[in-house]
Amino acid sequence: MKTTLCSICLKNYPLVCVNCQEKIDSGEISELDVRVIRVFMNLEKSFPPLKETTFLRAIQTNGLIIVLVSRGDGRRLRPILRKILRLAEKELDSIVRVVEESKNPQQILRDLIRPVRILGINTIWLPDNSFERKVRISSRDQSRIHLDITHLEKIVYELSGERIRISFD
Ligand SMILES: [Zn+2]
Repeated sequence: MKTTLCSICLKNYPLVCVNCQEKIDSGEISELDVRVIRVFMNLEKSFPPLKETTFLRAIQTNGLIIVLVSRGDGRRLRPILRKILRLAEKELDSIVRVVEESKNPQQILRDLIRPVRILGINTIWLPDNSFERKVRISSRDQSRIHLDITHLEKIVYELSGERIRISFD
């Protein structure tokens, strides 16, 4: 995994070099980031595409860990993602989702609920001239998402800056 923490420190953590200590002190790298990076690094041998994946940061919220990766990295991992997540979830004792960096709310939601698919999106104009995107998902898929819907909507908003509403058809 490509990360801003140097490879030596990744091996020796919690012993870190001056450079990496600075990154930790400044908050550029969190303790959670290091935990997540180490778990994914250990999976590199079995899943080589992880070596080319750029880790941006990890976010922990309501029993979920989101691993943000660079644009294009999600696609590379897709064929092996389910296996990787199963192992990472065991190690991290949490639901884990890999999300590609994006400002597109649909894209982020897609990564969060994969392999469940989005049926369609409607734009709803509100009286104050703002709009909301209603994302439709098949009700048959509801039980496969494993995440609270309000929570999902909140994460999408935090990552993309746009509000969506999820509805089940
Ligand atoms: Zn270092």
